Amino acid sequence: MSADKEDDREDAGLRSALLDTLRAMGNARLNVGTAGNASVRLPGAAHATVRMLITPSGVPVERCRPEDMAVAEADGSYHGPLAPSSEWQLHRDIYAAFPAAGAVLHAHSPFATALACQRVEIPPFHYMIARFGGSTIRCAAYATFGTQALSDATVAALQDRSACLLANHGMVVFGRDLTHALALAIEFETLCEQYWRTLQLGAPVLLSAAEMAEVLERFRWYGKPRS
Ligand SMILES: [Zn+2]
Repeated sequence: MSADKEDDREDAGLRSALLDTLRAMGNARLNVGTAGNASVRLPGAAHATVRMLITPSGVPVERCRPEDMAVAEADGSYHGPLAPSSEWQLHRDIYAAFPAAGAVLHAHSPFATALACQRVEIPPFHYMIARFGGSTIRCAAYATFGTQALSDATVAALQDRSACLLANHGMVVFGRDLTHALALAIEFETLCEQYWRTLQLGAPVLLSAAEMAEVLERFRWYGKPRS
């Protein structure tokens, strides 16, 4: 088989996996209608070049076909019948800034968005906050959707983290691949719901810096073979 044919076959698998992820985001009630988008990193021609497969702009998930997933280049050019998501810059810049990012999901999920509209940093009210890399989850400064300013604010909020809120907008999460990113997105929305619920009872008791440091250390080893 030629290298091109092998690339095509790999591409077809990723297109289906990306569409399946978008559907799963809908089934998990992270997305409704055309809100929300997802992408997966493609190997670049040069190591430093970001290329990705990304969901198209403005098409309801039930009408999306695998061939509608757009291949977007770092300069904004794309291949495919439909334009990439209006948030393609945000996805591109996350891949460029964070080598560990293999897939990026963006959603206007109800509980994350409710907290994002309060522009709060989520404090260490639960140890699972550490799953996202630190003892808090930040909220990126507000900027208009689809702009470079939103992308810059998001990359800043994601330093040493794999998720953040976007002020008056929603949330973004990245993982090593689509399966991992989807699991993290569902966990993140669940944590946002738990925080929202505990706020109904009053201010929660927060974990201390020492308690969170211990959890972060455990998460560093979690799922990795010990030598
Ligand atoms: Zn959005």
